[in-house]
Amino acid sequence: MSNLVCCQIIPPDVLYQIIKEGTSEQKDKFIRTLELSEILRTQRSIIAGMRGVGNILKIAGHLQKRRIVYDANHADDIFSLPGEPKRYEEDLKETGDNDVDSCFNNTGLVYDFYKEVFMRNSIDDDGMEMNSSVHFGVDFDNAVWTGSQMVYGDGSDLLFKKGSVASNLTVTAHELTHGVTDHEANLVYRGQPGALNEHMSDVFAAMCDQWVSKHTVDESSWLIGKDMLIEGQALRSLKDPGTAYPTDKQIDHIRDYHTGMLIHYSSGIPNRAFYLTCKEIGINSYSWQKVGKIWYATLIDKLREYSKFQDAADSTFDVAGSLYGKDSKEQAAVYKGWEGVGITPRESSDMTANLVGGKRRRRHQIL
Ligand SMILES: [Zn+2]
Repeated sequence: MSNLVCCQIIPPDVLYQIIKEGTSEQKDKFIRTLELSEILRTQRSIIAGMRGVGNILKIAGHLQKRRIVYDANHADDIFSLPGEPKRYEEDLKETGDNDVDSCFNNTGLVYDFYKEVFMRNSIDDDGMEMNSSVHFGVDFDNAVWTGSQMVYGDGSDLLFKKGSVASNLTVTAHELTHGVTDHEANLVYRGQPGALNEHMSDVFAAMCDQWVSKHTVDESSWLIGKDMLIEGQALRSLKDPGTAYPTDKQIDHIRDYHTGMLIHYSSGIPNRAFYLTCKEIGINSYSWQKVGKIWYATLIDKLREYSKFQDAADSTFDVAGSLYGKDSKEQAAVYKGWEGVGITPRESSDMTANLVGGKRRRRHQIL
């Protein structure tokens, strides 16, 4: 099905940098984090086959959210996953473990956001169970979507603050959106399609955060992973890419793009385009109401495995015209948003002209 192996929340070169410059203790710790991240990245099918309680409860087409949070008990091998079930829909009592309870609640908020704003029923739009394991590994500095479940470490207090990884709503929303993309546009995880994949996770995470807080464009921090890092304010800024932490290399304009650039850095270009589009609609507006709908329709109905930045610009422009009218304020806002990052949307007379690769497999369509 998918070509997306999975995603981890942190750009891999941040770990490489610490390994290169850190103390011997830090080197050992982060080499293990990298190893474990890599194992999780490549073992999605094994994990999928080991979902104990998840398999029992799996019934296609559920209309309500179904979450299970497991405790991995610090095991650092994938064969221990998912771990011991700690909290699920049938038992909503708080456990007292902040990682378990926050993860459970945030997963529910992400489900509610997709359902209420986009009428989407879970990751696959078919009631897929949302499984998460917390306390994975020892001081594991990452959060990973494996293709079938979420895995969260505790953080080491060297890179991420302890207890911050599993309790951050934008991290959960970002990673679960990789699952949504996996079931929709299925963008390959490299080059510009990979950057668009990362971008979609960031914009839907930012929107989910804003929807929960009822923050306007102006009120939002536009940060992903706020207050998680020991050094720096966040992992990424959609408003000002490249300013989230001291060595943040994210770019915000196509002139700075080059082939081979890490996708977590080139994703700053469409991220900034999204922010600028929202700003054009109005600083007192809500991102998810208009721009969010344009981006969602583009993700599920327009983009495909090998779509590039220009395809995203053209598609969002077309979708804005279809949803709000040709030459509407909304379509003009999309145009200005992309123009602000050096990409000029091209008008397409044929609404299918900018589809790139892949076969359509829609169950329903917004457009
Ligand atoms: Zn990601």
